[in-house]
Amino acid sequence: MAAQTVARTTDSDSVNLGPAAALSCRECGHRVPLGPVFACEECFGPLEIAYDFSGYDTEELRKRIESGPANIWRYAPLLPVPADVADKPNLNPGWTKLVQADNLARELGVTGGLFVKDDSGNPTHSFKDRVVAQALEAARAFGFTTLSCSSTGNLAGAVGAAAARAGLRSCVFIPHDLEQGKVVMAAVYGGDLVGIEGTYDDVNRFCSELIGDPAGEGWGFVNVNLRPYYAEGSKTLAYEIAEQLGWRLPEQIVVPIASGSQLTKIDKGFQELIRLGLVEDAPYKIFGAQAEGCSPVSAAFKAGHDVVRPQKPDTIAKSLAIGNPADGPYVLDIARRTGGAVEDVTDEQIVDAIKLLARTEGIFAETAGGVTVGVTRKLIENGVLDPSKTTVVLNTGDGLKTLDAVAGTGLTATIRPNLDSFHEAGLA
Ligand SMILES: *Cc1c(COP(=O)(O)O)cnc(C)c1O
Repeated sequence: MAAQTVARTTDSDSVNLGPAAALSCRECGHRVPLGPVFACEECFGPLEIAYDFSGYDTEELRKRIESGPANIWRYAPLLPVPADVADKPNLNPGWTKLVQADNLARELGVTGGLFVKDDSGNPTHSFKDRVVAQALEAARAFGFTTLSCSSTGNLAGAVGAAAARAGLRSCVFIPHDLEQGKVVMAAVYGGDLVGIEGTYDDVNRFCSELIGDPAGEGWGFVNVNLRPYYAEGSKTLAYEIAEQLGWRLPEQIVVPIASGSQLTKIDKGFQELIRLGLVEDAPYKIFGAQAEGCSPVSAAFKAGHDVVRPQKPDTIAKSLAIGNPADGPYVLDIARRTGGAVEDVTDEQIVDAIKLLARTEGIFAETAGGVTVGVTRKLIENGVLDPSKTTVVLNTGDGLKTLDAVAGTGLTATIRPNLDSFHEAGLA
């Protein structure tokens, strides 16, 4: 890690990020003022946001949230954003549907209630709009003029769109061989989109270098130097699910893993809701889902290891293809602490699961949704996931961006425009 990324801080007095009080090291607890830093100056551990939640009255807070806007800003009192965030130009993501998936439940034998949190309903059709919205506020607070990131595809589009709406320049970096839908979705917003000859992990390393270089001056990399702020956006998934269930935690939740950030912040979100008294302190299990072709966390979980050995990804689930996941060890901790698990499925099982979800619930998921639904099915078959418990499965992206995954799907028949032809095709 470049020394500059640790040493460079800004004047914390001028930074207003609502209830965010400081950055605190997840390893040693060392605290530093809010700034565009992500690694601890003492131990190089990852930094996260520490809050001042004192003085909140639970029922007042609940009322304030419930009367807030139908997007992530209803939870502004729990996020590192200024109180007037909803008035600024941004994409207002969130408050996506929690779909009661009774047909899928029947198919999978779930009796305790099965829900799909469908984040394909966000402005750029993936969960990434949530995290980018937080990073954008941090970028504004720190005076960055260019918004950037390393991306497996969805983040590129979310950053391009957010920057366009906010009037900032964007320049984002992706592996050169992503799905066409992801490339077009990222390019259309008019920012710079750069393909890098390498894997996501190569792209990410390159971005860390650029931050330490004078060329990166004034650049906010949403998932690198703004990562502590960015990551908090995933908590809104936890808040929404709990509120949509009637201020109740699900008993089981299945979450996709790329870097693992989302999974760790869903846990953080649930813990905060318990601490603030907004939900009952009831046990929940968090399950992580990966593709077999990029399953470093699942492999470590099954082997009983605490460290994650990097892999070279080879899977159709490109949005989850991070071979060296930064939050891997924290994911292992959470899966073990909550009594969950981490599992993986093959590309074939991913495609089957995409079709299953579409056929049963009318939801067309991207490959990451195939991973979570496929893993849910596998965990039920293996007796790891309890079908009698309330279960939430995340769909984090839109199938229209990964059409190649279901390329074999098409016309049932081609007929001439007359009834004879219709009958001949056996469609009556
Ligand atoms: C980025 C992404 C995730 C999760 O990413 P983390 O790095 O684990 O937070 C999940 N699904 C989709 C579709 C994504 O694009």
